[in-house]
Amino acid sequence: MTERGRFLLDETRIPKAWYNVNADLPTPPTPVLHPGTMEPVTPEFLSVLFPMNIVMQEVTQERWVEVPEPVRDIYRLWRPTPMIRALRLEKALDTPAHIYFKNESVSPVGSHKANTAVPQAFYNKEAGTKALTTETGAGQWGTALAMACNFFDLDLEVFMVRVSYHQKPYRRIIMENYGAHVFASPSDRTHFGRKMLEEDEDSPGSLGIAISEAVETAATSGGTKKYSLGSVLGHVMMHQTVIGLEALEQMEMAGEYPDVVIGCAGGGSNFAGFAFPFVHRNLTEGKKTRIVAVEPASCPTLTKGRYTFDYGDAAAMAPIVKMYTLGHTFMPPGIHAGGLRYHGMAPTVSALVACGQIEARTARQLETFEAAVRFSRAEGIIPAPESAHAIRAAIDEALKCRETGEKKVIAFNLSGHGHFDMTAYQSYHHGLLEDFEYPDHAVEEAMTHLPDVKEG
Ligand SMILES: *Cc1c(COP(=O)(O)O)cnc(C)c1O
Repeated sequence: MTERGRFLLDETRIPKAWYNVNADLPTPPTPVLHPGTMEPVTPEFLSVLFPMNIVMQEVTQERWVEVPEPVRDIYRLWRPTPMIRALRLEKALDTPAHIYFKNESVSPVGSHKANTAVPQAFYNKEAGTKALTTETGAGQWGTALAMACNFFDLDLEVFMVRVSYHQKPYRRIIMENYGAHVFASPSDRTHFGRKMLEEDEDSPGSLGIAISEAVETAATSGGTKKYSLGSVLGHVMMHQTVIGLEALEQMEMAGEYPDVVIGCAGGGSNFAGFAFPFVHRNLTEGKKTRIVAVEPASCPTLTKGRYTFDYGDAAAMAPIVKMYTLGHTFMPPGIHAGGLRYHGMAPTVSALVACGQIEARTARQLETFEAAVRFSRAEGIIPAPESAHAIRAAIDEALKCRETGEKKVIAFNLSGHGHFDMTAYQSYHHGLLEDFEYPDHAVEEAMTHLPDVKEG
C-alpha cells in the first residue's frame, strides 16, 4: 500500500480567525517602553507609526480575531498551503519517524511573509494611510509588502540595505515590478541617512540604519505615511497563525498528531505562526507536544541571550520590549540565513521560552546546508537557508528515532524557498562556506549597552 503524502484543504478552510496567544500566556504581557523616557508607551505614541486599527490589534487580549473577508480573498491566491508527509526523506534517513512539513514557500513571493503583509496593507488602507515605509535586508519582507501594497493600491517606500541593493538585485526588481519605490540605504532622503553618508559616503548600510530611515520617513510625514514591520510584533505573530491553524486540520486528515513541532526563528514570526496553535493545545487541552525553535549558532538569541528589556532596533530609536536579546548593538556574523540575523526575539516567543513551554536549539551553518541539500535531493524543493535550520532539527529528531526505534511524528515549517540564495548554495558546494564561532566577546560587549530599565 502506498501511503498518502499530500494533505490539501480547499479554500473554504482558510481560517476565519487568527489565534492570539496573548489570551493564553501563563505570564502577563510585559509593557512596551518609550525609547527616550523608558516609560510605558501610549497608543498615541504608537499611532505615529502604525494606524490605530493595528495598534488595537497589538494590545488586544481577544483569543480569536476575525480575518477580514478582503484579506481571506487574497489569501486564496496561495492558501491553504499544502502539508506534505516527507515520505522520501523518511526513506532516505531510514527512520521509523513520520516527518511532515507545512509548505509556506508556495506563496507568490516565496515565503510566509505574505501572510502578514496582506492584512497590514488592508488595515492601513482602511485607516486612510496613503503610503507605507519599511526596511528590507535581502528583500524577502520588501517583496511581500510590495505585493500587498499593490493589491490595496498603496504607495510603498522600501529602504534596502545598500550592499544587498547592489549585490542582490533580483528581489529589488520584483519589488519594482509590483510598483514599489526602492532606495539604497543609507539614502539622501532622510536626516539620519544623510548623517550616515556624511560619516562614510561608501557605507554598506545595515538593517538598523534602514529601519531608522523608514521610521523617520513615516514619523515626519504628517500622518499620511505609516511604517510596517515584518516580524517581532504581536500582530505579526497573530497574522501568521493561519499556518498552524491549517496544519492542525491537516494533521487530523493524516490521522496523526505531532510529538515534535519545529520552526526556524529570526524575529519569531514563521515559528510562532506554525507553533502557537499547537502551544494552545498544550496549554488548554493537556497535549504534550515538544515545541522547538531553531536559531543559528552564530546568532543564538534564545539559547545564549538574556531575557531583559532592550531596544527593538540597532539605532535605539524603536520601542524597548522585554525579550531574549544579544544586545541591540550586536552585529552577528554574515551567515547566509540573513532572515535569522536579528539580535532579539518576539516578546511572545520569548515569554513562552522563559516559562518552559518552548525549547530552543541552535544549528551551525555547514550542518544546516547539509540538511538543505539532503532535503532537496529527497523532496525536490530547494529550501531557504533560514528554513533549512528547521530541516536540520527535524532530521536530527528523525535520526534519534532511528537509534531508539521510536515512531515519533515530527512536523516542521518550511518558511520559504531558496531560489534567490543559489550563490550561497554554490559556495557550499565549492567548500567555501564556514562555521562561525559563537561570538561571545561581541555579545558580552553588546550587553553593556542595554537600556537601564528598572525591573520590578
Ligand atoms: C524572514 C524569514 C525568516 C525569519 O523571520 P521570522 O520572523 O523569524 O519568521 C525565516 N524564513 C524565511 C524564508 C524568511 O523570509
